[in-house]
Formats: sequence, C-alpha cells, structure tokens
Amino acid sequence: MTSLCANNSSANPFSTRALAAQAAQIQPFGAVVAVDSACRQVHSVSANLGALLDIALPAPDTLSLACLLGKRLSQRLRRAMQGREHLPAPLTFVRQTHGRNKRYQVHALRSGSQVLVEIEPLQPLGKWRLLGAVNERLMQLADATHQEELLDNLVKSIQELTGYDRVVVCHFDSDWHGFILAEALGGRLPTLLGQRFPASEFPVGLRHAYERNPIRYIQDIEAPAVGFLPKPTAPSLEDSLLRAPAADRVRYLQKLNVRGSLSLAMQGDAGLWGMVVCHAATPYPTPPPVRDAVRALVQMATQRLLLLQARQEARYLQRVQDSLVLSSTTRKEPQSPAQLLKAQAETWMALFRAHGVALWIDGNTYLAGSAPAPTMISQLVKRLARTHDHAGPWCSRELAKNPLTSSLAMGEHCGLLAVPLPLNLEARGWLLFFRPQQVEALYWAMQLSPRDPKTHHPKTHHPHPSPSQPSVLTLPSPCAAWCEEVIGKSEAWQRVERLAAMDLGEDLTLAISAYEISKLNGYLEQERKALADANQRLEQLAHFDPLTQVWNRYRIEQAIDAELVAAKRYGAQFGLLLFDVDHFKEINDTHGHALGDDVLIALASLVENSLRGCDHLGRWGGEEFVVLAKHADIEALIGLAERLRELITTLNVEGLHKPLTVSIGVAEWQPDDSCKSMVARADKAMYRAKHEGRNRVEVATREVS
Ligand code: GH3
Ligand code: MG
Ligand code: MG
Repeated sequence: MTSLCANNSSANPFSTRALAAQAAQIQPFGAVVAVDSACRQVHSVSANLGALLDIALPAPDTLSLACLLGKRLSQRLRRAMQGREHLPAPLTFVRQTHGRNKRYQVHALRSGSQVLVEIEPLQPLGKWRLLGAVNERLMQLADATHQEELLDNLVKSIQELTGYDRVVVCHFDSDWHGFILAEALGGRLPTLLGQRFPASEFPVGLRHAYERNPIRYIQDIEAPAVGFLPKPTAPSLEDSLLRAPAADRVRYLQKLNVRGSLSLAMQGDAGLWGMVVCHAATPYPTPPPVRDAVRALVQMATQRLLLLQARQEARYLQRVQDSLVLSSTTRKEPQSPAQLLKAQAETWMALFRAHGVALWIDGNTYLAGSAPAPTMISQLVKRLARTHDHAGPWCSRELAKNPLTSSLAMGEHCGLLAVPLPLNLEARGWLLFFRPQQVEALYWAMQLSPRDPKTHHPKTHHPHPSPSQPSVLTLPSPCAAWCEEVIGKSEAWQRVERLAAMDLGEDLTLAISAYEISKLNGYLEQERKALADANQRLEQLAHFDPLTQVWNRYRIEQAIDAELVAAKRYGAQFGLLLFDVDHFKEINDTHGHALGDDVLIALASLVENSLRGCDHLGRWGGEEFVVLAKHADIEALIGLAERLRELITTLNVEGLHKPLTVSIGVAEWQPDDSCKSMVARADKAMYRAKHEGRNRVEVATREVS
C-alpha cells in the first residue's frame, strides 16, 4: 500500500471509526470523496477509499482533493464544477500499484453545499468494439417506425450489449402505475411482460430523482454497504450513482430474485414516460462505458418514441380534420342536425372509438349507434349545462362513479366525451360520444395490502393501488402475477381525442348555424311569397271580373278617371265604347245560363285580344262592356267600334247557332267630362243603336254644358 502526503501518515482516524448505523452509505464498487463547494477541502470520504486506491489515507485535516487526485485533475474538476470548463468525456486517472497501472473514472456532482467526487475503477474494455455495436443499434432505433418495434429493439439491444438477465420497458399510466410493455430475457429470470407495478413502487421523490439523475445502478444488493468517515460530516448521497440501495429496495429486489439492477428514466414531454429496467440474477458489474452506451440507446429510443407519438397524434388530428372538410362542404347546401348525424355518425364513432353518438340541439335529441334514450340525454345535458361552464369538452370513463352522472342509470355506457356547441347565448348544444365498458384484466406483479389492516375491507380484496396511499407489498411467490379484473370503466379518453373533439365541435357549430340561417331565410322567402300571392289574389279580386277575367267596373272607372286627368292636362283625345249584347236573354233562355256565360267569356277574350296595348276592356255589368280607347279622335273611335262590331259577329261559340251581335254607343271625350257623364252619353248612344235595329254603332252627340 502506498502512502499519500507522507507527512500525515502516522495515525489513520478513518480506519478506526465504526460503520454501523451509517446514514449515508455507498456500494463498495466505487468510492466517494465529499468536498466543499470550492472543491478544495475534503469533508468526508467513503471508508473504502484507501483500499480502492490502494493507499494509506492521512489525517482528514491535511487531506485535500489535490492530494488525492493530483493537482491537474482536481483543478479540472473544480473548473468543471464552477461551470468554467466543459468536460467532453469522463475524467480518468491512472495509479501505479505493485508495478501495474490501474485506471479510475472520476465523476463530480453537486449535492447541497458540497461536491461529491465519485471514483470508480475502470476495467480494460474493448472500447472500439462497444462503440461499433452501439452505433449500429442506435441506427436501428432511429429507423423504427412503430412504438412496439422501437421498444422491442431497445430492450433486445440493451440485453445483448449488457448481458442482463431481464431488460424491460415499464410505462407509467396516468395513475403512475407501471406497465411492462417490452422485454428481452437472458434466460435466468422469469418474464414480467404484460404485468403491472403499483404506483406505490414509484413514489414522487423517486420520480423527481430520476429527473435529476436519469440512471440508477445497483451492482449487488447483497454487497456490504460502505459508510463515511468522519461520521458527523457524512454527505447527502441522493443523486449519487454509488448510493447504497435502501432496505425496502433490497427486500423488493430480493423478492424478485434480482441481485443486480440498472434503471434509466425515459423522460416524455409531460414528465416521466417510463423506465428501462435491467435485472440480473447474480451480482452484475456494469462498467461506466457500458452504462453510458445503454444511456445513449435509451435517449435515442426516447427521442424516437416522442417523435412517433407526435406523428401518430398528427395523423389522427388530420383524419379528424378530413372529416371536418366533409361537413364543411355541406355548408354550401346546409344540412339539418339529423342529416349531419346520419351522414357523419359512422366516421365520428370510428374516429372517437365510441359505440354511440348523440347531438342535442335546442331540446331536440338526435342519436346514432348505441346511445342512451332521449330523456336520459336531456337530464345529462341539464347537469352538464349547470356544472360545466367552460368551452372545453367534459369527459369521464367511469360514469357510474362520477358525481355528475352517478345518479343517472347510464347502463352499458361507461364513458362519455361531451363537447359543448356554442350555438347561441342562451343555451349550448352538445355533441356526446359514448363508450361501452371495457373489462380489463390487470396483472399485478405484486399483491398489495393496505398498510393499516383496519382500512382493509374484505370485499375490496383487490384494492386499487394509489400513489397517494402507499401500500405494503406482499408477494405470494416470487414474480407470481396477481390478476385484477377492472369493470365499470371505458377506455380512457386520450388528450389528442379531447383536442380533436374541440375541433369537431367548432366545425359542427358552424355547420348547424349555417343550417339555421338557411332555414330562417327559407321561412322569410316563403312568407314573402305567400304575401305576394295574397296581394295578387286581392288585386285580382279587386280589379278583375271573376267570370270573364277582364277588368271589372271599378277598375275601368279608375282607368277612365286617370285618362280624364291626363286629357285635361295634356288635351289628349280619347273615348269610350259601350256595347251591349243583343237579345242576350234569348241566348240564356234558349241554350241555358251556362252557355250564356261561355258566350260572355268568349266575347270578352275576343275583344280584349283585338285591342291595342294601350286600350282597355272592362265589364260594366251583365252583358254590357266598356272599351277605353286612348289617343283616339272620333273617326278612330268609330273605326274601332265598327271593327269590333264586325269582329263580334264572327265569334264562334259551340252550341250557339246564330251570329252574336252587339249594339255600340261611342262617346268622345269633351272638356269638363266626368266618367259618369261620358258613360251616360255612350249609354244613350248605345240605346239609340238598339232602337235603330241593333248590331250597329251610334255616336253620342256632343253636349254643351
Ligand atoms: P237587348 O237586345 O235589348 O239588350 O235584349 P236583351 O235580352 O240582351 O236584354 P236584357 O237586358 O233584357 O237581358 C239581359 C240578360 O242578360 C238578363 C240577364 O239574365 C242576363 N245576364 C246578365 N248577366 C249575366 C251573366 O253573367 N250570365 C248570363 N248567362 N246571363 C246574364
Ligand atoms: Mg242586351
Ligand atoms: Mg243589357
């Protein structure tokens, strides 16, 4: 044994101190030196330091880091701890003992106000061979396209590289229970694949420790732990790789038949995603370069895993977006909620892994697939509206136990994702997805029993482990899985599904609003049309003769009055023709009233169609008609009257054997005329025509007022 700082080699107080009940203890495969934050003064050292370095340790008050590691190495460590130097690789040093060179690796970390310097002997290792093997495996991991393939590759690579008897990936669920997702076995330990480890196995403190130092290593759980000298200044070893395992941990691993263990954290975006755990049935030295290689593989796999998950989420969101495009195309021709649901329900149910979907809009319920009855939906919506006042979705995978829904008999529906649709200010609509129960068999690697026997209820002989209530583990036999059947729960609603549901809700709100607007526009259009029709009918009634469909007396009087005003103002000439069917009574009497009607209809139509656009025909009453002829002097009026008289004789009505004739009185407008005076003059002339033998035209004489 060589001696350092020979001037202080007389007494060695470290070697005489008792190690029993030492709080801070390390594993014996390395040694720790605790120094002050300036990395100068040694506070304490692990009791095996002298043996590990093969030196006799001097008195503590004379011991410095430089004394132990040499000036250059301790200076580099100091600079690195002060952040003034970045160490690209672990520091190593060589000591010569018994003529042989022995290599050590040095690693420093801060622990409170102290710096811990960990020293670990390095065995000669085929460094380049290791590097090649790691690179090849890193490439394989980087190429993995699916999570399962990636994790299988990872555990296989680590197992081959390290030779551990069992390498597993343990993933944490939202309750912090661990689930063994992937495994590679070396042959000497049984499988843990598919089994669960309760959250109590991973207390918050341990999870935080993994965040600071993602690697934990126990070379041999049965190796005697090494304490610190001098005892009162023993350091805090929380983050030291060399820290000896706690008694609980040792018992736990013993029950798993494990003696050596290496575990590494897989940090996700939202905390610890999982861990890679390596177990050996025998003490298992894993040299620092191998541990580094494993760490690199785990880091690469974690990065790849996060990327694959991000891609998968992006693909899912894209599929939901695609389904939105479908509903947005319907905006061109808006669809009712019922039509929308009919067209989209299958797609939505597949996307959201639901067995039923419901739309609740303005008190109306539309259902597809397997969903509760409308009365139940109404109650559900009432409660949601009362308690859920923010814009995001509401979800539960255990409706029978949720305070909001437990008193509703939801039957086969165990999971609900409810998306509010802000259609109007008074009441929101809802899109509801339902999931059935998913009976799940959980295989627990450890059987749990509550710490306090009084709280142990006989019916709950499978108490669900909870992170807040640590349980004591009792193992029926090493590694025997214990099965728990979980009932009353649906599959969990994933974060990405809740996000996608919001997108869908927004799109649906737009689609339904578009439909409501188009419906309102439709109503308005119908109203407008009904009003126009009514107006038209009224006008018809007010202005037209119902039998002949020519103007009635009221309308023709209006037109005459308007023409009188124009004539007075502009002096435009116009006149009236009043004609009466000759011997019409005889037609009625001979052929019946119906034929009389037909004659009047045919006569009116014939005359009206023969008039100029500016002239008008009106039925004055019975078989008397008036023609208002504009822009016409007396010659034109007489000409028109003669033309009409002759035309009427040509009228052909079925059943009428004699030609129809009329007697016509013509009255030309004269100043100071009124409608009444003009018609009276025309009437007088018409009677004159009757007297003169009928079927003739008589012109009213001008009257001087
Ligand atoms: P005159 O040559 O002197 O005019 O002989 P007339 O038979 O035409 O005279 P009168 O005024 O006595 O008869 C008119 C008849 O027309 C009486 C009435 O029953 C009939 N009449 C009035 N309105 C209608 C109608 O809407 N339809 C039918 N079929 N007959 C009508
Ligand atoms: Mg007549
Ligand atoms: Mg008459």
